[in-house]
Amino acid sequence: MKLVSVVVPCYNEEDVLPMFYDEITKVTDGMTKQHPELTFEFLFINDGSKDKTLEIFHSLADRDKRVRYISFSRNFGKESGIYAGLKNAKGDYVVVMDADLQHPPAFLPQMYEYVKSGEYDCATTRRTNRKGESKIRSWFSMKFYKIMNAISQTEIVDGAQDFRFMTRQMVDAILDMSEYNRFSKGIFSWVGFRVKYMPYENVERPAGTTSWSFWGLFKYSLEGIMAFSTAPLAVASLLGIISCVVAFILIVFTILKAIIGFGETPAGYMTIICVVFLFSGLQLLCTGVLGQYLAKTYLETKHRPIYIAGETDETYRAKKQENEGK
Ligand code: UDP
Ligand code: MG
Repeated sequence: MKLVSVVVPCYNEEDVLPMFYDEITKVTDGMTKQHPELTFEFLFINDGSKDKTLEIFHSLADRDKRVRYISFSRNFGKESGIYAGLKNAKGDYVVVMDADLQHPPAFLPQMYEYVKSGEYDCATTRRTNRKGESKIRSWFSMKFYKIMNAISQTEIVDGAQDFRFMTRQMVDAILDMSEYNRFSKGIFSWVGFRVKYMPYENVERPAGTTSWSFWGLFKYSLEGIMAFSTAPLAVASLLGIISCVVAFILIVFTILKAIIGFGETPAGYMTIICVVFLFSGLQLLCTGVLGQYLAKTYLETKHRPIYIAGETDETYRAKKQENEGK
């Protein structure tokens, strides 16, 4: 028997969860029919939702033994949700997917075929278009992937997603990366293994809203760059070297001018102001970049937990049993 764990991070997903459950069970039932060796568990993560997500988990857990869940004590972000899911999944294979049906469950049978064949350790989808996304957002995404791949050794495939079907071996490798600042796209790529990218057309959410604002995505991309590249630190040094060279040339020029005495001494007041501004700006910028990395290091050294679980399906089921016993 082979157990497949389906990990689903959820944040305020009351509108789509019932739809998602119907879809996923339809697909997995079909898979079990075709491959009798397969069994499934559904591991939902409630990332501190403010709506009825947890209540829906309760009713799903009442209805279906295969449903497990972990409910965070507050919102920790999707990355923490994925980590908690991978850590608690018991499966020989683990699937990570969004609750909003933007990761169509219909891909699962094909993904399983790829991984089962032994040719791949991971099957994932790759968006071939960005339908339903604003032009500006697409442009920024494109630039992000360009910059990221230019300055980082870890390749981030444009359009690659967190929708993954993975072997236990790959999941264990990911769990070995216990860093606090988690950028999943980078982590999935960093661990390597043989990955099958399946092209697909972007689909829109059937219900609910995305929790990503433009500003949120922008900050997230900076996090990604900092987590997987130290190039910005090198840029700081490079700027420093360039300005030193320029300053040196200027000094030589000024001394020569004083000795040989060619040309008029210009008023130069504004020039000085400009140069002072430019270089103090550059210095602050570089200190800022340094500070960002230092801050990340600071957070890592604290070894804070990546998530804190409040309630789980185990505590819920135990409590229910206790109540029924009374
Ligand atoms: N999500 C989460 N915690 C968060 C934000 C999002 O667990 O703080 C989940 C969300 O419920 C969904 C998935 O991450 O299952 C993707 O979120 P969303 O659809 O908002 O992102 P998008 O598809 O626009 O990238
Ligand atoms: Mg989505």
